[in-house]
Amino acid sequence: MKDCVFCKIASGELPSTKVYEDDDVIAILDINPATRGHTLVMPKVHYDNFLSTPREILTKVMIVAQRLGQIAMKQLHARGVNILTNCYPVAGQSVLHFHVHVIPRYDTTDGLQISMKDMSEEKLNLPTIAKEITKGM
Ligand code: 5GP
Ligand code: ZN
Repeated sequence: MKDCVFCKIASGELPSTKVYEDDDVIAILDINPATRGHTLVMPKVHYDNFLSTPREILTKVMIVAQRLGQIAMKQLHARGVNILTNCYPVAGQSVLHFHVHVIPRYDTTDGLQISMKDMSEEKLNLPTIAKEITKGM
């Protein structure tokens, strides 16, 4: 897609530090890493995000993400890994070309903090929410 930075990286028009490539998938080091070895895995063809990516491509991307997570543990001596994908700007997606973050974790106080606010169960009626979700399944 025109003006997409990851399409340009995938086609070689823009430089990147590549750690993996096959016919469909590319993995590069994040230019602003949260931790040492922070990698982005993406399809070469443009899809906006996880939600709009066809299953067969999604599978290929996730298999590479799993492999990179395993390698982070073994080669980089990470003690854990976060696998993360943001969908739409409200969820923190800044590059609108589907990608999965593979973030090696070394310590709970390293470069990444994920915190979830505990919304009280009283305000959020769980059975009602479950009904809304299951209607769409
Ligand atoms: P998002 O916020 O969309 O989930 O993640 C986008 C990620 O892409 C960010 O972590 C950002 O640092 C990274 N990024 C943005 N532009 C470039 C680039 O040109 N090259 C590389 N390697 N990473 C990029
Ligand atoms: Zn793109």
